[in-house]
Amino acid sequence: MLCKAIKDLVLTDYLDQQLDGELKGNIESHLATCPDCAAFARDVQKTLADPFKSIVRQKVPERVWESIKANIPVKVSLADKVTGLLERITPVFSFPRLSPILAGVAVMLIVGATVFYGQQAKQVRVKEQVEYLAYLLTPADPQESENSSMETPIEKYFL
Ligand SMILES: [Zn+2]
Repeated sequence: MLCKAIKDLVLTDYLDQQLDGELKGNIESHLATCPDCAAFARDVQKTLADPFKSIVRQKVPERVWESIKANIPVKVSLADKVTGLLERITPVFSFPRLSPILAGVAVMLIVGATVFYGQQAKQVRVKEQVEYLAYLLTPADPQESENSSMETPIEKYFL
């Protein structure tokens, strides 16, 4: 029973050198006293561990990486799509005779929009000022002027 457990560990964690401290010590002391398990451990080491020790990491030829890269589907981002679209549109702007006209139209549109929104904003400001002045000039609400004379309706009733 103990030998089976030892052999299981020799095949797994002991082989992978994943054991620490006490358990590893227990296994090694068992291996020192049990010829059967010691033979098993040597066998495992020789057939399962040693062959991998001499392995050298092979250098992958650059063309293999290139081929892998070429075969990975590329997810096109929105930014790339916009860039692609702009790249398709730009020839229009690089058309020699049309370019200044388009640039002029663009400038006019920008200036026009700026002036238009500026005027709208100004109108809003003027409207606000007029409303504020109107509010200041409006005679106070009769109810409010009564209150401002420090008399509540009840006081007025009794006085
Ligand atoms: Zn044993």
